[in-house]
Amino acid sequence: MRTITVVGASLAGLSTVRALRAEGYDGEIAVVGEERHTPYDRPPLSKDFLKGDIDADALALADADEYEELGVQWILGERAVRLDTTARTVTLTGGRELRTDGLVVATGAGPRTLPGTDGLAGVHTLRTLDDAKALRAELRDGLPRVVVIGAGFIGAEVASTAHQLGLHVTVVEALDIPLERQLGREMGLVCSSLHTDHGVDLLCGTGVAGLTGNGRVTGVQLADGRLLPADVVVVGVGVRPATDWLAGSGVQVGDGVVCDTGCATSVPGVVAVGDVARCPSPFTGRHARIEHWSNAIEQSKTAARTLLSGVSAPASRTAPYFWSDQYKVRIQLAGHVAPGTRPQIIEGDLDSRSFTAVYEHEGSTLAVLSLNQPKLFNRLRRKITPAAAAATS
Ligand code: FAD
Repeated sequence: MRTITVVGASLAGLSTVRALRAEGYDGEIAVVGEERHTPYDRPPLSKDFLKGDIDADALALADADEYEELGVQWILGERAVRLDTTARTVTLTGGRELRTDGLVVATGAGPRTLPGTDGLAGVHTLRTLDDAKALRAELRDGLPRVVVIGAGFIGAEVASTAHQLGLHVTVVEALDIPLERQLGREMGLVCSSLHTDHGVDLLCGTGVAGLTGNGRVTGVQLADGRLLPADVVVVGVGVRPATDWLAGSGVQVGDGVVCDTGCATSVPGVVAVGDVARCPSPFTGRHARIEHWSNAIEQSKTAARTLLSGVSAPASRTAPYFWSDQYKVRIQLAGHVAPGTRPQIIEGDLDSRSFTAVYEHEGSTLAVLSLNQPKLFNRLRRKITPAAAAATS
């Protein structure tokens, strides 16, 4: 293998380049990225960057020395539009074709939008630096009334940041209990009560019928008939994996790029990594995309080994992990909360919003959740092993 193309110039793409070089690959690498920015960190986009505490320079994932060491051709501001797995070419927006021996699909995911909201000013999604700059400018412009649609982690972080900026915030969630799928019923209630603790309105169990406004949004019409006046609306209703460009290529897709545990796709010499990759989890045995920062890094090592050896490399045995910062509380979860598993508080208490809970099955730790207890969390998360998780599958 003398040429490798990485499509997607973000965390997973950069991490795979690093892993390829660390494995000793010294051939050519081209990285294609639709955004015109060099790789940057997304988590602060809903937190410190949105609040105005840090600027874009602080988001850089690599510095000039590392770029020189990696010796990669960066093709930024161009989109891959087609993959031909027989000719082994990637076609870019302008028609240029890159010939490649190996391919890394690291195209992540893009935010879902609400139908009929295109072109309505004041309506935002949040995925990219440009999205965050646009939203940040509007949050600082007067004292807008903000409605956040979706109380998932990104919606919750935006609500928290807007609240810290002194704005009036309402969060609308279609489910009765936000975050129930990720944390279970009890902890979903506890974490979502952070909004109401801080005077942010949280309306659950109601859908959105549409937005009002002519040219610029003026309100959110709820399915139950209520109308919420709004100057700024943030839509945080999940993402769609960026796989359109793979249509007709023979690479199997279905809610992401379908992979084996080693990130190998249905086409030899093509691997997928990060938010776009749908691999079987060693923890649950089920195929899933894991939209966590740490997963993009863990998987990149596996993907690089698979691509270079031609044989599926073993997956990481580290339990999936993510964090979220809301209302000065750090939420950390490792492992997988199986439906119906009840959490046990082992330190702290719910009222103080500082506690650690474990989710167990027959004495094995499946998941650990902490609010503001990072030390204990880091100790306990090591107890989660694929073998322990397999006991419930
Ligand atoms: P992405 O970062 O989405 O990058 C994919 C890149 O590919 C993009 O730049 C995209 O433009 C490009 N691309 C797509 N299609 C094409 C194409 N056809 N051709 C060329 N380029 C293409 N995780 C946590 O664990 N904790 C957090 O607190 C947290 N906070 C977050 C806050 C925000 C606002 C967001 C958006 C995410 C957050 N995450 C967090 C998730 C984390 O950032 C992602 O898991 C991570 O960015 C995934 O990296 P990726 O490289 O797989 O995908």
